[in-house]
Amino acid sequence: MVTYHHKNILDGEIPGGVYLCQVGENVSCGACCGLYNVADPSRETLAEMLALRTRAFAEVPRTVEGILSFKDETEHRECQIRPYPEFHHCPYIGLIGDSLSRAGCLLHPLGKGNRGVDFRGLSYYGGMACRTYFCPACKELPPLYKKLIRALAGDWYLYGLIVTEKQLLTAFFGEMEIRLGRTLCEGDFENIMGNPAKVRCMRTFLQYRIQRPAAGSEPLCNYFFEDGLYGRKNTDDTGAGGEKSRYFRIFRELAWEFETADALREAEKNLDEILECLTR
Ligand code: SF4
Ligand code: SF4
Repeated sequence: MVTYHHKNILDGEIPGGVYLCQVGENVSCGACCGLYNVADPSRETLAEMLALRTRAFAEVPRTVEGILSFKDETEHRECQIRPYPEFHHCPYIGLIGDSLSRAGCLLHPLGKGNRGVDFRGLSYYGGMACRTYFCPACKELPPLYKKLIRALAGDWYLYGLIVTEKQLLTAFFGEMEIRLGRTLCEGDFENIMGNPAKVRCMRTFLQYRIQRPAAGSEPLCNYFFEDGLYGRKNTDDTGAGGEKSRYFRIFRELAWEFETADALREAEKNLDEILECLTR
């Protein structure tokens, strides 16, 4: 377990008892800092953006002027087009950890060069919000769902995209629970993690989050704040000429649309196989 926490609290105080924000050397989330609210949210572009910021911040004097100038320069250098204009994208998210291998806050007191001083008060949201905010997935997902995603996402890029998907994960694990005729329990974690075929199936599903079978109009970034400002379309339309699907909730939350009924049926078949494997 890493000790560099995004929040200044202990694991036992986390809603649901499973901490999601910083979980391993390569696995962390920066979604509520607006990480994915960028014009090009591809892995390569985001990784390059974070690496450049991190190198630049290493040279910044830790003064109010220095830190605020870093923000101005970063915003001047980077494209400021936002898929969700009212979702703040924080210029202080960069790379952290011994190998700079995960996303995290450059203003955190444990950040390199900060000498224990918490500079997050200089950010748009302010220090209190940065320390204490928890997204709906943190607060409401069952601990077992969270544990599976933490264990299987692999790196910060996919992790931050998938772990914040409360509705998607609820729909997907809900399908498993329907098949099992019970809620998932601790034994299912061991059962899945100890079975390479099941691990592969889970990972295939997680990868769905960054795939789009047809040119979709919805941003990859998830606006998960439940204030009604933005959100996924509340519809059972699959895009495939009026064809309905028993998995429409999953497809809707993936923002998947299909150009043909055949493409829809193929996607259903793939999901069937994943769910059958996981509940066998
Ligand atoms: S979006 Fe949720 S899981 Fe991600 S850093 Fe924020 S509170 Fe943590
Ligand atoms: S200052 Fe706050 S919003 Fe910005 S990266 Fe740090 S924790 Fe996220």
